[in-house]
Order: sequence, then C-alpha cells, then structure tokens
Amino acid sequence: MEEFVSEIKVVFLGASNVGKTSIVTKYLRGCFLQNQDSTIGATYNKHTLVHDEKEYPLQIWDTAGQERFQSLVPMYYRGAHVALIVYDITNTDSYKRAKIWVKEIEEKGMTNVIIIFIGNKRDLEGTRTVEIDKSEKYCLKKKITYLETSSKTGYNIKELFQIVGEKLSQAT
Ligand code: GDP
Ligand code: MG
Repeated sequence: MEEFVSEIKVVFLGASNVGKTSIVTKYLRGCFLQNQDSTIGATYNKHTLVHDEKEYPLQIWDTAGQERFQSLVPMYYRGAHVALIVYDITNTDSYKRAKIWVKEIEEKGMTNVIIIFIGNKRDLEGTRTVEIDKSEKYCLKKKITYLETSSKTGYNIKELFQIVGEKLSQAT
C-alpha cells in the first residue's frame, strides 16, 4: 500500500542563477524554517499553503547550488508532487535548460507531477531574450502552466503559490 502522504513535496528546478532561491525567500519572507537533508545536500522549508479554506502542508525544496555542476541527484526531485521549473527571461540558455527539465520529468514517468514553468526576472523586460510568445506556445503544447515572475519586485510571486494551491485542489 502506498504510504500516506502528509506533506506535499514542491521542488525548484532550473539553471544556476535564474532566481530559484530568491523566489522562495521572497515568498516565505521571515516566516520560514529551514531544514537540511544532508543525504542530498539540499534544503527545504515547511510552509502551510491555504487555498479555498483548505490547508496544504508544503515542503518547498531548494538546492544548495548543485545545479551549477548539472548534478542534481534524482533523490532531490523523486516523489515530488509539484515541480517549479525556472528560467531567466534574459538568458536563453536557462530557457533551454528549463525545457530539458520538463523532458526529464516526463521521461522519468512522473506523469502526475504538477509542473509550472516560470520565466523569472520579469523586471528585466528591457533585456529579455526569450520572447513570451515562444514560452507560451511551448507550454500550451506541453499542457503546462506558464507564469512570469520577478523575485526582485515580487511580481506574481504570491500568484505562483495560488496557482499551486489551485492545481493541488484540482488534483485531490
Ligand atoms: P538561483 O541560483 O537560481 O537560486 O538564483 P538566486 O536566487 O541565487 O539569484 C541569482 C541572482 O539573480 C542574484 O543576484 C539575485 O539577486 C538575482 N535575481 C533573482 N531574481 C531576480 C529577479 O526577479 N530580477 C532581477 N533583476 N534579479 C534577480
Ligand atoms: Mg539557489
């Protein structure tokens, strides 16, 4: 029998420097309790997400920078319920890397994972190199949600987690 899932595992994926840690920090500002899993060298924050008066206990996983070496261990994202795949809208390589992550999740047969594709650093609109149309088309094709955020200004950060709540409520 499958183990009862009490906490929802949310993992951040994406190239180094796209703003994953900044998004978590911006969202959890001050109210977070950080835990370290020494087996995989990553940290997670516990946070209770409230959506439609229902509580969702989240474990929000962030890397300790291992993605810099393209070396995230499968244990990091194994068993994830939600994958937040981030790129930087001013960095085309990070967009390509994000698409590779989508492919990897698909290839691992993690078909029930809720994927949200995130173009971060929206405040740097003026130096954008990845057109919004391109990302939107890609996500439409993949049937995944696309959102642009800025952890600098806070743009769409709360909304991101509202979408997570919405998706979780539809999934349960
Ligand atoms: P990570 O490696 O993906 O965890 O990225 P970090 O959160 O460490 O951020 C990398 C760099 O990008 C830092 O210098 C951040 O201040 C900067 N950064 C993160 N998010 C944004 C954003 O939305 N806008 C801008 N302009 N800079 C950002
Ligand atoms: Mg980081």
